[in-house]
Amino acid sequence: MRTRALTIRPLALMLGLSLGSMASAVAAADAAADLAVRWADAVSGAQLASNWAELEQITLAHGGDRSAGSAGYDASARYVEARLRAMGVTVRREPFTYNGRASFNLIAEIAGRAGADAPVVMVGSHLDSVPGSPGADDNGSGSSAVLEIARVAMLDRAASTLHLVWWGAEESGLNGSIHHATQLAMDAERRQRLRVYLNADMVGSPNYIFGIYDPDHASSSDRPAQERLIRQALRDGLGHTGSPSVSISPYLGSDHLPFAACGIATGGLASIPGIRNKTTEEQALFGGEAGKRHSPNYHRPADRVDAGSATAQLTLTRALAYALGHLAEQPPEATPATRCNLRKARQQWQQARAVLH
Ligand SMILES: [Zn+2]
Repeated sequence: MRTRALTIRPLALMLGLSLGSMASAVAAADAAADLAVRWADAVSGAQLASNWAELEQITLAHGGDRSAGSAGYDASARYVEARLRAMGVTVRREPFTYNGRASFNLIAEIAGRAGADAPVVMVGSHLDSVPGSPGADDNGSGSSAVLEIARVAMLDRAASTLHLVWWGAEESGLNGSIHHATQLAMDAERRQRLRVYLNADMVGSPNYIFGIYDPDHASSSDRPAQERLIRQALRDGLGHTGSPSVSISPYLGSDHLPFAACGIATGGLASIPGIRNKTTEEQALFGGEAGKRHSPNYHRPADRVDAGSATAQLTLTRALAYALGHLAEQPPEATPATRCNLRKARQQWQQARAVLH
């Protein structure tokens, strides 16, 4: 820490800032890095594996999938709620309707040290699967990761308030996250409090990569500057686990899109870059098999935990916990409120789906 303070000192003098205020900025950055490391290191591989397996057993015992409106979805939601309540985490259902059907999201809250007006940092994963698939990689992997992050976050509170979310009806068109982002956008005070949305959709792919959502890597780059801080935190998180990472297009068609469409800073991690075969470059970095799909059982009955990668899930959960801890301790500034362009979010989701099938 001393070396950092020494390099900052001439800069402080140059900018005419007091050494006291620079020292407190250094202290805040150190506190954020410390919490990030503590959360990442507290993630338990055994607990994560148990969450993932239990979610699958519950799904298989209730019709075999977690599609919106199914018995499997309801039983899975009750499991997540029971686990959260046992940890002492407050959770509520957020009902919504779409195409004449009803479903719900689960929204858990862990209050920050900074009190009722604290900034909010959110992490989410869709809990539903497509009909006919138990959805281990898509998305039992992300759902069990967020559950483990809740446990870790309760051990060691951040300055910001955390919202941990399990979205409903993602597979039929981002319906749960669109509902939430739309409600949020209509409430100026809540909208300004939400600083970051991080997404976890498919983090246990068998033939994995470690991918960070990066709009600069894709065609569109009209994104808030805060997203660079998010990508840096995710890169640092993967670096902390000793793992390489690559940039992937964020337009994979998941629940960050409605938040991005409302101008909120978003980011995420995935073990799959999209539906295509693994490249030789990816094989050189991450192992596995070039020329094969990253998640060969995607949307199929064979998308089971036994076929997935616990290594990928643990690495990406640690990296996500690291980034979330960092951003929750030192949240970026709020982005300006803009009108939500949900049409764009829906189009991006449909384009991603068109590639997938
Ligand atoms: Zn998914």
